[in-house]
Order: sequence, then C-alpha cells, then structure tokens
Amino acid sequence: MIKAEKIYKSFGPLQVLKGIDLEVRKGEIVSIVGPSGAGKTTLLMIMGTLEKADSGRIYIDNHELSSLSEKKLSDFRNRNIGFVFQFHQLLPEFTALENVMIPALIGHAKHVEAEARAKDLLCMMGLSERITHKPAELSGGEKQRVAVARALINDPLVVFADEPSGSLDSDNKEELHKLFFELRDKLNQTFIIVTHDEQLASITDRTIHMIDGQIVDQ
Ligand code: ATP
Repeated sequence: MIKAEKIYKSFGPLQVLKGIDLEVRKGEIVSIVGPSGAGKTTLLMIMGTLEKADSGRIYIDNHELSSLSEKKLSDFRNRNIGFVFQFHQLLPEFTALENVMIPALIGHAKHVEAEARAKDLLCMMGLSERITHKPAELSGGEKQRVAVARALINDPLVVFADEPSGSLDSDNKEELHKLFFELRDKLNQTFIIVTHDEQLASITDRTIHMIDGQIVDQ
C-alpha cells in the first residue's frame, strides 16, 4: 500500500538517507526507531510528501508521487495523508470541532458533512464533551486526541506520526497508544510512527530500526 524505493537524501554535504526501501501494508501499525540523527523524521517527511527526496520513488496506494506537480501533490496530500506531530499544532483561536474540520473544508467538503464527521471522530476519541473547547481549555492528552481526529477527518490512506506521545505523561501516552490500535481495529487505519518510546515500539506490528540513514532491521 505504501512503498519507498531507493530513497536518498542529503542536506548539503550530510547524507541523511542512504537508499531506503520500505513497504507497509494497509492496516499495519509500524514504528520507526533509532538513535537521534538516524534520519527517521526525514524519512517520514519524505514518505508524507512534505519533503522531497534527491532520488527514489514513493508509492501510496499505487500512485507514484514524485511525478506529480506541486498542486496535484498538495491535493493528494490533503485528501489522503494525515499527520500527527509531537506538539499538537492546533490553531488556538478555533474550537476542537473547528480544528478537526479545517482539512475537510480545505478539501472543499460540504460544511454539514465535515461537521458531522468531525463530531463522530471527536466522540470516538472520547471528546464529545469537549467539542466547543479551544486548545487552551484542553489537557495535553485531549489536545493530542483532537490532533488525531484532525488527521483522520479526510479518511486518509495513512497517518504519519512523529513522536506523537513525546510530550505526554505516562497515562496519556498509554491512552494515545491504545487509541491507535482501536482506530486500526475500527477503521483499518494504517499508521507509521517515528518514536523513541520503547513501550510503543514493542506493541506495534513491526519495528523498523534505522541507523545512520539506513534500515538495519525490520
Ligand atoms: P531525532 O530522533 O533526534 O528526531 P531523526 O532520526 O529523526 O532524529 P532527522 O531529524 O531525520 O533525524 O535528521 C537527520 C539528520 O539530518 C540530522 O543530522 C539533522 O541535523 C539533519 N537535518 C534534518 N533536517 C535538516 C534540514 N532541513 N537541513 C539541514 N539538516 C537537516
């Protein structure tokens, strides 16, 4: 479903990715682990189309993405890829519901439909009592669950998460990790997660170990 083929990337003289090959199946939850500077985030950004590789190909659901124009790539990304980052990156002036709806509205969904789906997702996240709260009125764990709902609003083919539980305490961490598996069971959602959290890596379907720009073990 997702395939990275011979991905190379350098920043100036620093070669960060040295020929990455990787395949992830639909409904899989895969973690990417490795020491700081191994190239995990760079790989995630390239697979998520937010960064360009120097060479190699990325396929998502049989679409080869490097040949798409910027406009087509950004439409593809908005419709098919969800992101969750370490810091929720919710917009402070909007409510939880509005934050979740934004990617759907950017994709020209009808307002009523976007609102209904956003409400369903927030309920699924256990946040039905929080939909009119702004980020400052939510706990860290709640904010991160709103960010997950936002990542899912367009029913993406894959969600890329970069240290999603990195800023949470242990109870909220565990709750977020459980949520990923619930979403996989309910929606057959695919997740690719960069993490330093050994507990999360130990429960994912597969762990990809990166060292110095290469995959050393899957
Ligand atoms: P961490 O676990 O610390 O987040 P990582 O494995 O995710 O590390 P990357 O963030 O992918 O590693 O970074 C890999 C290397 O590339 C690092 O040496 C980093 O400094 C460098 N790097 C990343 N992005 C850029 C950039 N935009 N410009 C220059 N160098 C960069």
